[in-house]
Amino acid sequence: MANDLDERTKQYGREIFARLDRQGPVLFTRAWLEDKLMGLGMHDPALKVQLFRFVDTLPYLKQPAEVSRHLREYLNEAKDELPWWVRWGTRLIPNRGVLGQGLAFASQRGAEQMARKFIAGSNVGEAVEAVRAMRDRRLAFTIDLLGEATITEVEADHVQKQYLDLLTGLTREVNAWPEEPTIDRDDRGPIPRVNVSVKLSALFSQFDPIDPEGTSRAVCRRLRPILSLAKQTGAFVNFDMEQHSFKDVTLKIFRDILTEPEFRDWPSVGIAIQAYLKDTEADLHALLDWAKNVRKTPVWIRLVKGAYWDYETVIAAQNHWPVPVFTKKWESDANFEKLTEFLLANVDWLIPAFGSHNIRSISHAMAVAEKLGVPPRRYEFQMLYGMADAIKESIQSLGQRVRIYTPYGQLLPGMAYLVRRLLENSSNDSFLRQGFSEGLSEEVLLTNPAANRRVLPAESPNTPTTSMIATHSPAHTESPAPAPTSAPAAFINEPLTDFSVEANRVAMKAALDQVRAEFGRTYPIVIDNKPLPVTKTLDRENPSRKSELLGKVAMANVDQAKLAVKSCLTAFDAWRDTSVETRAKLLRDVAEQFRKRRFELSAWIVFETGKPWRESDADVAEAIDFCEYYAVEMLKLGATQHRDVPGEDNRYFYEPRGVSVVIAPWNFPLAILAGMATAAIVSGNTVILKPAEQSGIIGAKLMECLQAAGVPPGVANFLPGDGEEIGPTLVQHPDVALIAFTGSLKVALLINEQASKTPGGQNFVKKVIAEMGGKNAVIVDSDADLDEAVKGVVDSAFGFGGQKCSAGSRAIVLDGIYDQFLNRLVEATKSLAVKAADDPGCSLGPVIDAEARDRILKFIEAGKKEAKLAHQTDLGALMEQGHFIPPTIFANVPENAGIAQEEIFGPVLSVIRAKDLDDALRIANGTRYALTGGCYSRSPSHLEKVKRKFRVGNLYINRKCTGALVDRQPFGGFKLSGIGSKAGGPDYLLQFVLPRTITENQMRRGFAPETGTGE
Ligand SMILES: Cc1cc2nc3c(=O)[nH]c(=O)nc-3n(C[C@H](O)[C@H](O)[C@H](O)COP(=O)(O)OP(=O)(O)OC[C@H]3O[C@@H](n4cnc5c(N)ncnc54)[C@H](O)[C@@H]3O)c2cc1C
Repeated sequence: MANDLDERTKQYGREIFARLDRQGPVLFTRAWLEDKLMGLGMHDPALKVQLFRFVDTLPYLKQPAEVSRHLREYLNEAKDELPWWVRWGTRLIPNRGVLGQGLAFASQRGAEQMARKFIAGSNVGEAVEAVRAMRDRRLAFTIDLLGEATITEVEADHVQKQYLDLLTGLTREVNAWPEEPTIDRDDRGPIPRVNVSVKLSALFSQFDPIDPEGTSRAVCRRLRPILSLAKQTGAFVNFDMEQHSFKDVTLKIFRDILTEPEFRDWPSVGIAIQAYLKDTEADLHALLDWAKNVRKTPVWIRLVKGAYWDYETVIAAQNHWPVPVFTKKWESDANFEKLTEFLLANVDWLIPAFGSHNIRSISHAMAVAEKLGVPPRRYEFQMLYGMADAIKESIQSLGQRVRIYTPYGQLLPGMAYLVRRLLENSSNDSFLRQGFSEGLSEEVLLTNPAANRRVLPAESPNTPTTSMIATHSPAHTESPAPAPTSAPAAFINEPLTDFSVEANRVAMKAALDQVRAEFGRTYPIVIDNKPLPVTKTLDRENPSRKSELLGKVAMANVDQAKLAVKSCLTAFDAWRDTSVETRAKLLRDVAEQFRKRRFELSAWIVFETGKPWRESDADVAEAIDFCEYYAVEMLKLGATQHRDVPGEDNRYFYEPRGVSVVIAPWNFPLAILAGMATAAIVSGNTVILKPAEQSGIIGAKLMECLQAAGVPPGVANFLPGDGEEIGPTLVQHPDVALIAFTGSLKVALLINEQASKTPGGQNFVKKVIAEMGGKNAVIVDSDADLDEAVKGVVDSAFGFGGQKCSAGSRAIVLDGIYDQFLNRLVEATKSLAVKAADDPGCSLGPVIDAEARDRILKFIEAGKKEAKLAHQTDLGALMEQGHFIPPTIFANVPENAGIAQEEIFGPVLSVIRAKDLDDALRIANGTRYALTGGCYSRSPSHLEKVKRKFRVGNLYINRKCTGALVDRQPFGGFKLSGIGSKAGGPDYLLQFVLPRTITENQMRRGFAPETGTGE
């Protein structure tokens, strides 16, 4: 039977091939730039990346000289991998004059022409014309509205309005046209002529799978009128499918809204389902069950392979998440066929539209339909505008209905769509490329994918690894692009929790409930692994809800501080002499404790510091990373270095400094305290953990984890208390050898000063490790991708309410893009969801306490006198509920204003105008800090300059300036931001140890072993 089906599939395939001219413009009509891109790029991945980047940037470039410069720079970036003649030609690219203008014109026209191949028009009128031309060729349509990424609520409103206008305009026009039965009817009667496709993420600026309920509510609010109008006017609406993380929430919204009474019996709706996803089969089963048993009305399923393959593989590799897509092309093809069979077998409930240009996939669908007796026009084929026109005609001539996915919109936002199409067409594995550029034989192209035979003659290089390298030009990285498989075997960053996965959201909610049930407990001081009787305590309140008491934390006095030092001193010798392996194992066991209690610890962070879910989870992940990383690093450091010569042995090794005091901030309440403490412990020191007053409970949780992992008595002592009261005692104690501090500049300088004294009885100079603040800037160049830059600046400035030393509190924007940027920035900030941190939909929570709130409000008041208040969100009653501060943006801020120079540690952003890049760099470097910085630009030469001249500890290019990962981005700054050695980096542990050298003469009366004795 299977053989019959395969043979019938091939017969259909041969028939389709016979009806098309393979020499003709099957892919699309050729034009200059496109020819270069597709022709050159297909055979040269480095060139492909650079040319696609150029195309992506083109619409932003206003001057001819800018176009030439970008083209030259992009080609130059990949020069080592380019063919000789391209390298040679690059030098001849004219900059100015008639030739330069000509080149700029040709490039822009070329890109525009290419875009116009895939995009039917820039407005409804042009789209209608395109649709009419298609009807003349008996092709049906579905219209898609291209747009910028929706990052503001104004944009989401605008998208909704455009869909409403589109439906009204199209219906009026199209329904007046004479009927075309081949596309306006199926085997049972009329079907909607007007068909639109919608991307749900365009309807809500805060679309986020972490909060399916909130996202669903907001999307449905805008979607309902669109569906109502479509239903009234007899149009069809299809939900597009986007990246994998959006899939479950998209399916949820689809089901939720179409089960509502108004839409329950409406059959003219569908959803795209991607066969390249491993979990799609289960989704289709669930959809069938829902359509049949809950909704009781069929829906359409547009079966596609999926357009985000490169994205999914890169994101999974970056996050060490399971890859959600198949990684071999034949697997996606085979799954497509399997799902085709499922759909056609259930055609009464899930009506298939096959979205593919692959003649094998299409022929297989026809053969299965024939076998199951499904009439040809009960289902349909769909293809993309501008692609494979000959195939469309050929299939239509076989009596099938073919619908064309027809995007329209402005060129600028259309670039992302264009680049997706270019990537798809130039991929080694693309059917169209293999069939019509590589010229593979029909029989090979029609091979059954389930036979697990590779279509390509050689191993496809399109594996996740190589694909990732291709999307990150090697020239853009300081060192070779880190392929996921080449990550250091010994240390791998702990994956962040993927909250698009339901099980993770459920676990987090359960942890929040569990922690709520533990509110009100008292947390004691722990010395020698024993709790001390509690005398004085500090109430810990929830900054999101002031009325909520989380617990009480003991407050140490000076005597208890001295007791803690004594305990550390007593434990020191034995711990110093404990093997490095044992100490490293302790850290790994602590990491294991964190893993076991991952959601619970995150929940405590949410409640005690007001950090949103995702960032709380990242805090725990970072704490795990510190443990694992420092364990690995200490094993390296612990290896004695030998420099033996005949008759003389030389050993170089490290030993710990002694009693260490770790004074930590509240903003990374677990990660920073754990990081500093475990670094001290693994290098053989004994340590006093002094958490911030504002995060004492989380400090206590860390101590619990250390104890559960088996830390010996006195090696770690937990000493919560008031910094002003016990701080000086600890810092100045003659038995304390090292102070590791993270916090404000003022306190760091004070500690440094106090620690520099060498009172009698103290026979060493104390070591101070200090991480201080920052006044970090993000430069926005005039060719920056605004979708990315606005989002990146918002995340950098307002993530965790700007309460990170890495926060980007200055946006330095080039004159040419300043107004455009500011407008979108303000709207994007208005759209942030300011809420209690335990709400999964919270994008911005409270600040830490009343003192911080008052201090930040003072800065805001001062800022009003120094600059223009561009935006301040009205928070209403929330201000009373917790310690909330409205996200605030100041514009036209003078570079030397207080708000542009002082670290505010709150959600306050200064936007500063710069004349050009040099001016921006001068302003960016013009503070006393040098911690983090960022730059959004698409000019390789500008980025080179920024890398050279933007002098900060951590520089981030084209991404937000927060969120450093252990090992990948060791963290720390210089000037008054810190002492320069980076946490989570290879030099960090060196600060906790003292180097020693032992030389031993092995000569005895002229006799010596032949080589050093070594160990
Ligand atoms: C009408 C229509 C609507 C569409 N709507 C959507 C949508 O809503 N959402 C969406 O994501 N896409 C959508 N697409 C795009 C669609 O996913 C791609 O055009 C399609 O994947 C190309 O497949 P093909 O069968 O034409 O070509 P083929 O060349 O046979 O397949 C190419 C596809 O195979 C997959 N693939 C490539 N390399 C590998 C590999 N190494 N391992 C595993 N799989 C691989 C990828 O999905 C790639 O796109 C739509 C397409 C059409 C025609």
